[in-house]
Amino acid sequence: MIRLLEYQAKRLLREQGVPIPEGDLARTPEEAARIAERIDGPVVVKAQVPVGARGKAGGVLFADDPREAREAAERLLGSKIRGEVVKQVLVEERVDIEEEWYVSITLDRAERVPVLLVSREGGVDIEEVPDERIARTHVDPVLGLRGFEARRTALEAEIPRRHAPALERVALALYRVFNEYDAHLVEVNPLVLTRDGELVAVDAVVNLDEDAAYLRHPEFAEKTEDFPFVELDGNIGIIANGAGLTMATIDLVKDLGGEPANFLDVGGGADPTLIKRAILRVAELDVDVILINIFGGITRCDEVAKGVVSVLEDVDIPLVVRLVGTNEEEGQRILREHGIEAFTDLEEAVKKAVELAG
Ligand code: GDP
Ligand code: MN
Repeated sequence: MIRLLEYQAKRLLREQGVPIPEGDLARTPEEAARIAERIDGPVVVKAQVPVGARGKAGGVLFADDPREAREAAERLLGSKIRGEVVKQVLVEERVDIEEEWYVSITLDRAERVPVLLVSREGGVDIEEVPDERIARTHVDPVLGLRGFEARRTALEAEIPRRHAPALERVALALYRVFNEYDAHLVEVNPLVLTRDGELVAVDAVVNLDEDAAYLRHPEFAEKTEDFPFVELDGNIGIIANGAGLTMATIDLVKDLGGEPANFLDVGGGADPTLIKRAILRVAELDVDVILINIFGGITRCDEVAKGVVSVLEDVDIPLVVRLVGTNEEEGQRILREHGIEAFTDLEEAVKKAVELAG
């Protein structure tokens, strides 16, 4: 799962027409002061870290003028909020709050459909809100969220009737983001009713499905490393599935006189794109051979083989593959068709890799 930062989540919501406070991202105290100057009024300075309840952890500060905004940014930048280093702050106009509401679209795993949640008790962790104060509506994924469903849910949550149309617009926008970005969660908490009677998204969370993000929204997936990876000193690249098997592979390479260059565990259910990224990652190291050791269970050997052959154009390091388990014959066939030596015996594969590593 990839949790977008607040400012990224808000951009997606703004594109769909959800009102967001005026503001901008700052990487230095000076930038924060300049943004506050432009806003020309009280602001909020907010740590951009991928965790919730920043307010309680001191990650949301108020400032009345540019000088205070600079100080707030100085305090936050470089500090840690819930274990995450703050590299950016969002400086936004401060909203006058009448009420704080909650609205989200998430996936109901039990029912296997999206669900719209609305509560009049926003601004706190939704887990702390009593069940009967949260209105829920399951969404037919074929039809999508419909306007009347959103309005009805708002009324069930005791949102005043005159605000139901505005809440409907927000809920439909959330649903569009949920769909378009393959999200697990799109949440606005708080959705603020201002003193002027407007609805404004003061905070936003968007959690994306990791696999969908890599394939369909790479702009959000670039920076997360999605497999445990440790660099070592040797010249034999190692890729295996499962931490135990990866360790065992490293040990055997050493026993047979080789020097492992890394630890990389692709985990269970590795698909071709993950295998491809794993190989490209190891190929960045100065290795003479890459040893891939897959024991297929949930992971299917044919999928692994497809991933392996997909890198052949980009990687000219010799690949030695040991492949056993689910769909083994198909996997072996795909590899051989592409001229890759495929082993079923681990020791033979390791010997071959050590030999090629010279
Ligand atoms: P979180 O703690 O990470 O969920 O961060 P939020 O952005 O939700 O901020 C926490 C709380 O700070 C909100 O529930 C509000 O009560 C308060 N807050 C945030 N922005 C504003 C603002 O613009 N005006 C006012 N008055 N309060 C704000
Ligand atoms: Mn919040």
